[in-house]
This record gives sequence, C-alpha cells and structure tokens, in this order.
Amino acid sequence: MIAFEEAYRIVMNSVVSTGTEKIRFEDSLNRILREEVRSDTDMPPFDKATVDGFAIRKQDIENELEIVETIPAGSVPRKHIGKNQCSRIMTGAPVPEGADCVLMVEDTIVLPSGRLKFRGTFTKENIAFRAEDVRKGDAVLEPGRKIKPQDIAVMASVGHTRVEVSRKPVTGIISSGSELVEPGELPGLSQIRNSNSYQLMAQAERAGADGKYYGIARDDEEATYSVLLRALAECDLVLISGGVSMGDFDFVPKVLERAGVRLLFTRVAVQPGKPTTFGVHEKALLFGLPGNPVSSFMIFELITRPLISRMMGFDWTPRQISLPMKSTFTRRFSERMSLIPVIITEDGMAQAVDYHGSAHITALPHSYGIISLPAGVTRVEKGEKVIVRQI
Ligand code: AMP
Ligand code: MG
Repeated sequence: MIAFEEAYRIVMNSVVSTGTEKIRFEDSLNRILREEVRSDTDMPPFDKATVDGFAIRKQDIENELEIVETIPAGSVPRKHIGKNQCSRIMTGAPVPEGADCVLMVEDTIVLPSGRLKFRGTFTKENIAFRAEDVRKGDAVLEPGRKIKPQDIAVMASVGHTRVEVSRKPVTGIISSGSELVEPGELPGLSQIRNSNSYQLMAQAERAGADGKYYGIARDDEEATYSVLLRALAECDLVLISGGVSMGDFDFVPKVLERAGVRLLFTRVAVQPGKPTTFGVHEKALLFGLPGNPVSSFMIFELITRPLISRMMGFDWTPRQISLPMKSTFTRRFSERMSLIPVIITEDGMAQAVDYHGSAHITALPHSYGIISLPAGVTRVEKGEKVIVRQI
C-alpha cells in the first residue's frame, strides 16, 4: 500500500499527451486551446460611434449646425464635417472625417429651420477609436486555457474560424461484476444496478474526456480479458471498476498483467478507495477503480480528473474553500488518508454528512464537497479550519 501523495505523483509522471486537432471555433466550448490566437484586425477597425446621435466638431458645439447626411451602421460616410456642420449617425457607424465628437440624440433638438442645436450641458466624445482595444497582430487568447463563451466571441471577432485544441482523451469504461444489471432493468435477487459506469462516463465528460462505454464484464476471466484488450487498443485511458478487491473473483489485476499492463500500484492508503490500481500499457493508461460507486467517484475526482486534464495540457485546479468545522469529527482508524463528504451549513461552516460508507451513493448528490483527513489524524475539532474541495 502506498501513500496517496505517492500514487498521485506516479500517475502524474505517467501523463501521455493526447496531441491536438483543428476544429470549428463554434464547437470549441470547454476544449483546451493549444495555439496563440492573434487578431487579424484592429479593434475597433475604425473610429466608431458608440451612441445614436450627431457627429460634430466639438468646437462648434454652441452653434446651430447644418445636417449634411445620415450614416447608418454598415455604411461609409461620404461627407466631411466642416465648420458648423454635422451628420446624423447611428451606433456602430464610422465617424465621418472632420468630426471629433458624437452628441447623443437625447442631448439635441432639431430646430424648425432643420438645423441642429445642442441642449445638454456636457458631452463625452462617444467615439470608440480605431485599435483602442486591440491592434492587428496582437495576441488575444493564450494557449492552455479552457475555452469559454467569451473566448468564442473573441475568436469570432478576429475571424479565427478553425482552432487548434487538445484532442479529448478517449476514456474507455468497463464495469466488472456478475451481480450487475443495467439501469433500465429490474435487478433480481442478489443483483444491483450498474451505477458506476454511468457516473464514470459523466465524470469523464465533465473532465473534458470522450467517454466510451464498454458494458458490463461478468466475473469471468476470458470475458474480462477480451473486453479489456479491445478497450486498451481503442482508448487513451481505460477505467475498469470492480473486481480489484481481495475476493476470490477479483481477478482484474491478474487479467491486467496478462493483457500486458504494467501495474505501478495496486493499493493506496486512502479511504475510501484502497484497492485503486494503476498501470501503463503500450499506448493507454489504465485505472482499476473500486467497485463501490462512492469510492470510484472520489478516486476519479482526486487522481483521474487531474490526469485527464494534464493529458490535454490543462492545469486544472479544483475549487477549494477554507471553512471552520460545525462540530467535532472523529474516526477510529487512521492508517489511511480519509475523504469525508461535507455540506456547508447556513452559517458558513463545514459539516460531515450522514454517510454509511462507500456504497452510500445517495450521500453524494447533496454534499457540497469533500474534506480530507491525513493519515495519522483521528479528529478534527469543532471550529477548526478545513479545506473543502467542491465536488
Ligand atoms: P468489487 O470491487 O467488485 O469487490 O465491488 C465492491 C462493491 O461494489 C460490491 O458491493 C459491488 O456489488 C459494488 N459494485 C461493483 N461494481 C459496481 C457498479 N458498476 N455499480 C454499482 N456497484 C458496483
Ligand atoms: Mg466484483
């Protein structure tokens, strides 16, 4: 059994990059950007009116002004603004030559003579000047970021329609166990529904991977071996849950070795999650995760998710906050690091949820996060600060 930190280090040292691909920018939400995006244009590309109103020479503001043309957005001004002249202009339209200010329509009145008069007391320029935001050739997005809707707007505005992103790690998911039936089925006596595969698929997708489901492998060495070989050949990462404990039918480690997986660890000092197994194959990495859904959930969040991020060249950090404990928490054994689901109380404290162990799947949806107690620690005192990691 190795310490959690050691297991984490081994996994992170095994990272294999998935490489990159070019995709349509509108499909790139949540993908990891792998190139620098530069602007092919000044932004704004011309001096632009920021209000509907009248383009004038500021020095003429006290005077009655002749209106020489109307400039809708999307059209090019034809008239130069000379002394005591102005043009009616719409938001987003180019400011005509000669003008240095746009009066808001609300601050003006058109006299019966057809001339314009300013009737405000003060005006801003109301012009967005060419290149005041970005100059042509400037870098606007840097590699390594997770693409947000705002980034997609930036790509659209600089015409970056094909974007280089990390290829999603194809993550194969296998559940092992003869007692498992699929969620749409009614479990018979001694059977349970397969919740792990679907949770892991969702976790893989949330981590940015491409989840690929391989079904349930019965507790049969040949059946497990053949599905495993297929997954190892087709995926960047394989997650097989169940069958890694110490029972007579827990032969997954044996099958893994037969399939050519070099096991780097098979036991981790973490509770839940002790039977966590990790190995490397020719081109795929592999986790043997505990069958219990709470255990596999936690191990995925703590080790697999950072691995998937690193495979895509992304430095993911979990959301964490420091909060005082609502009440004292104790445990009997402390040889392993322990992960405890918590809620945040109305008065802003962390409170351990009522949790019966690693099969208690319904404890997780309402938990805000988890805290971890290091090996050797049996108590957290009421009021003591703990780090709550959001799940
Ligand atoms: P194992 O690791 O195979 O010994 O399984 C440990 C526990 O987790 C057993 O109670 C299994 O029935 C349960 N379990 C295993 N796989 C799954 C799964 N895919 N979904 C839900 N529970 C599972
Ligand atoms: Mg089993």
